[in-house]
Amino acid sequence: MRYEDFHRQSIEDPEGFWAEQAKAIHWHKAPERILDYSRPPFRKWFVGGETNLCFNAVDRHLDERGDQLALVGYSTETNSVRELTYRELHREVNAFAAVLQSLGVGKGDRVVIYMPHTVDAVFAMLACARIGAIHSVVFGGFASLNLALRIDDARPTLLVCADAGIRGGKVLPFKPLVDEALARAQFPPRHVLVVNRGLAPSLDLVPGRDLEYGPLREQHLDADVPVTWLESNEPSYILYTSGTTGKPKGVQRDVGGYAVALALSMWSIYDVRAGQVMFSTSDIGWVVGHSYNVYGPLIAGATSILYEGLPTTPDAGIWWKICERYGVRTMFSSPTAVRVLKKQDAAYLTRYDLSKLQYLFLAGEPLDEPTVEWITQGLGKTVIDNYWQTETGWPVVSLMPGLDMKPVKFGSPGLPVPGYDLRLINEATGEDVGVDEKGVLVIRPPLPPGCLSTVWNNDERFLAGYFGHFREQLYSSLDWATRDAEGYTFILGRTDDVINVAGHRLGTREIEESVSSHPGVAEAAVIGVHDAVKGQVPVVFATLKRLPGADEDEHETAREMLQTVADQLGAVARPSRVYVVNALPKTRSGKLLRRSLQALAEQRDPGDLSTLDDPSALEEVRRALERGPEAGS
Ligand code: ATP
Ligand code: MG
Repeated sequence: MRYEDFHRQSIEDPEGFWAEQAKAIHWHKAPERILDYSRPPFRKWFVGGETNLCFNAVDRHLDERGDQLALVGYSTETNSVRELTYRELHREVNAFAAVLQSLGVGKGDRVVIYMPHTVDAVFAMLACARIGAIHSVVFGGFASLNLALRIDDARPTLLVCADAGIRGGKVLPFKPLVDEALARAQFPPRHVLVVNRGLAPSLDLVPGRDLEYGPLREQHLDADVPVTWLESNEPSYILYTSGTTGKPKGVQRDVGGYAVALALSMWSIYDVRAGQVMFSTSDIGWVVGHSYNVYGPLIAGATSILYEGLPTTPDAGIWWKICERYGVRTMFSSPTAVRVLKKQDAAYLTRYDLSKLQYLFLAGEPLDEPTVEWITQGLGKTVIDNYWQTETGWPVVSLMPGLDMKPVKFGSPGLPVPGYDLRLINEATGEDVGVDEKGVLVIRPPLPPGCLSTVWNNDERFLAGYFGHFREQLYSSLDWATRDAEGYTFILGRTDDVINVAGHRLGTREIEESVSSHPGVAEAAVIGVHDAVKGQVPVVFATLKRLPGADEDEHETAREMLQTVADQLGAVARPSRVYVVNALPKTRSGKLLRRSLQALAEQRDPGDLSTLDDPSALEEVRRALERGPEAGS
């Protein structure tokens, strides 16, 4: 089918379109109504229908593909591989669900899962889904303050954690962080369930509160836990956003709409069907992990690969080695991870047999042209930029090779995904902008299935934070974009990432693209810094490629960066200073923390650093600021 017809149908006749898509999943009870939009902008999909995410992800496949691989946990941190067929996964999930029930967890109860990217975490998630408990996965390795904030927001009955995470060979015990978080929290759970991987030196179980999973699993290994059927709009999980722009929001997801949206995306966008293999390098702590490490591939009857480890350990060929071993068809990663590979030898990209690999999807932040060109050429595969948010749960702008592949345009994720009525709105007037004009990317409600139902326990924040920006009730993505004559959408960055230089409004993304086009640059962050004369001036923080044998002069490279921007974008955009650093401050999900950079550059307090990944990156920036710029003044 033509993409254009498919998309048009989804907008003109949403109920007909989604009624058709809903057939892709199992319903215990068929929906009575496809859409209830009587209380905009809240909406309910598949009203009265009863289903279950765990049943659709696991039980449903037992007859036809019980012996097919469902899940692979590949770890270069513990040098281990765990492979589970659908039947084995079913057994583990039932055991976990029985343990949850034995601890008094039931329908509607929240369970915080604070675990590394392992198959055990998936068992815990699916077990919650099975019994109607609401999971809230907190990225393993977030500090105790982050964990405590999320606990107090979600108020869980139970917390499930591992004894430890491990990153770059360094063991990070989780239990002390959990203990600290529980001491801080106002609403700690009754019990802590610890999955012992044998990594931490001790567990220090608190009697009466903490339990070890292993012995309980033994007791419940042959349990058969009935599926709890849920009305389509009941909550399935809560997931907090990355917190790039401020305090994380608890995105609340439904059951039926999410399952249907994922099913549609698996064949039409990712071109993965039952029996095929998908490998997402995300972490279960993020939305990509939820949708495309856990629920999406399993609902589709595919095999999902979880990788625990750095992309460069034991060497930069590890991803491709995994692709060869399992015959991966579709891979999903992030621009930031590809930039890590880009600092290494491109020969790693062709060392393994990648004949089964068709696509690499990249999402999470702007995909700059030098990076996408490098990986496209190096791999010789189709690389597709993917734009979406924790809030949406699945892609908003993408190309759809499983349906009708359109040409890739570097710099653009492509076209609106079916279900999304996208518009670009002038911030001041609220009118639609013209071709190639910049506007705020908005979704005309009702939001399609899969998108958030609300912000957990906070309908006001849902309304004000997303729908309160324009006269018309529109969902604001808080991202800038343009659209060309063929409908391709180009994401320009966040609405708060615009800087104002002597009255000119410049997007930081454009300047970053320009700086990154210098062959010596690995990654660049551009921020607006207060200036008494011009209002703001662009300032660059850049990391350089350290290629073997290269003998670069940092000052020279920095001066060339300034010239590149002036040549490409004009003199107004010419950054006033360039700082060369070894690392840029990022969130734990790999996004640039521009707000902290800006604060430091303006000698302000860097603010909430709880989402910062590596504190030494901030030290780097402090030192660079003290030392003075490599170019500019
Ligand atoms: P918070 O909302 O708490 O500040 P966050 O926006 O970083 O955190 P996510 O939901 O993980 O949390 O990220 C979604 C955002 O990431 C998008 O709104 C957009 O700014 C950016 N993004 C995602 N994919 C792309 C892409 N392909 N191109 C450009 N930007 C992207
Ligand atoms: Mg956001």
